[in-house]
Amino acid sequence: MPSESTEKTYIPLRSTHSWLSNPLDWAPIDRLILLAGMTLLIPLFFGGALLLALILAPHWLRSGVAVPLLMFYVAYTLLLGGFILRAFYLRKATDRWPLFEDFIIYSYVIVTYVQSWASGTHFTSGMLLLMIGVYMASALADIRKIYRAYMLVAVLFTVVCIAEGSGKFRFAPVFARPPYNTDGSSVSAWFWIQAMQIAALIILTRIGIMATRRWVERENLFREMSTIDGLTRLTNRRSFIERSETEFARASRIPITGISCVMIDIDHFKKINDTLGHPAGDTVLIETASLLLSQRRQYDEVARYGGEEFAILLPDTSLEDAAKIAERLRGSIAAQNILIDGKPVKVTASFGVASFPGPGIESIGDLLKAADDALYKAKYAGRNRVVAGRKKPRLSGKRKRGRSVI
Ligand code: GH3
Ligand code: MG
Ligand code: MG
Repeated sequence: MPSESTEKTYIPLRSTHSWLSNPLDWAPIDRLILLAGMTLLIPLFFGGALLLALILAPHWLRSGVAVPLLMFYVAYTLLLGGFILRAFYLRKATDRWPLFEDFIIYSYVIVTYVQSWASGTHFTSGMLLLMIGVYMASALADIRKIYRAYMLVAVLFTVVCIAEGSGKFRFAPVFARPPYNTDGSSVSAWFWIQAMQIAALIILTRIGIMATRRWVERENLFREMSTIDGLTRLTNRRSFIERSETEFARASRIPITGISCVMIDIDHFKKINDTLGHPAGDTVLIETASLLLSQRRQYDEVARYGGEEFAILLPDTSLEDAAKIAERLRGSIAAQNILIDGKPVKVTASFGVASFPGPGIESIGDLLKAADDALYKAKYAGRNRVVAGRKKPRLSGKRKRGRSVI
């Protein structure tokens, strides 16, 4: 059966950004310092734009609103700066400071909203800035706090809209007159304010994308770590069982074609470790894994099931076909020369094959157990062989090595 999980693209384990460790792995307080540093851009940009407008076109602004607003940005910058300095001091003793987190999140959304309302841009760049805030902060801070802060803004927005509609509240109060002349041409100061807003948007969008990328990178890393075996790069046991459960359920629903499982165990592997050393044992595992992987069919799942034990799930495969595949793999492993310190080393492996439908197999657990039992029989019958199904091995002791018992 086609399954997406068989098409693997391995993601490098190391971060692609070597100059800076992933902030998502930092202590919470350090992440907040980063977030506060980015938040500091907001009053700097808004304050800068306002100051520029006050210098270039003071008559276009209502100084009674613009000057207090500018003072507000200065005060906010100082307060946020103070929080950052205090956090630097506190980070030596603790890695959490909830008040700092609350302050950053709530002040960011409120300051952004106040600016958007004061300059009359809350439908456009104001909303965009709020969205970027969600991106940036959700990767670095408590998502529930962000949600609550944004709900607060939603309430604030509704109240202001109603107040504006009633005529009691002035829209874009920072402006003494519209930023356009009567002939529709825009005022130069307005252009510079917009230019500052665009610059802020570009910078914050870049930061937002960076944060999201790091998030994705870490997600991929964790997913890989939880599903892939670190040594052989094969699917690990947990992930193999998960896929087997899905495939078994599918095969049970459509019992026309069966599903087979092959268990493989390298023979006398301990001897390799004991005589050639543990790193040589590792090389044998890696080479065997890559041989199994190279010979699998598109939808087969090859896994490292245990120390020197591998498992292959063969969807849509009968016992006879699975036994043939196992026999081919057995031959390949036995024929392979593994180079250890430049010298060829040969290993063999024993195979157990079981299939569903089959006698006594009603669950994926039964199938894995049956394949394991067959493997045990292959070992008992002399190793380097394939045993398929639940037939008892002939224990004559004269059996030629390398033959299959089907
Ligand atoms: P048999 O033919 O009966 O399977 O004998 P065996 O020696 O292969 O089996 P046994 O279970 O006695 O030994 C398995 C060894 O595999 C023991 C363990 O130290 C080694 N092993 C398990 N995982 C690793 C690994 O990741 N690297 C290396 N080098 N050795 C490992
Ligand atoms: Mg073994
Ligand atoms: Mg073993």
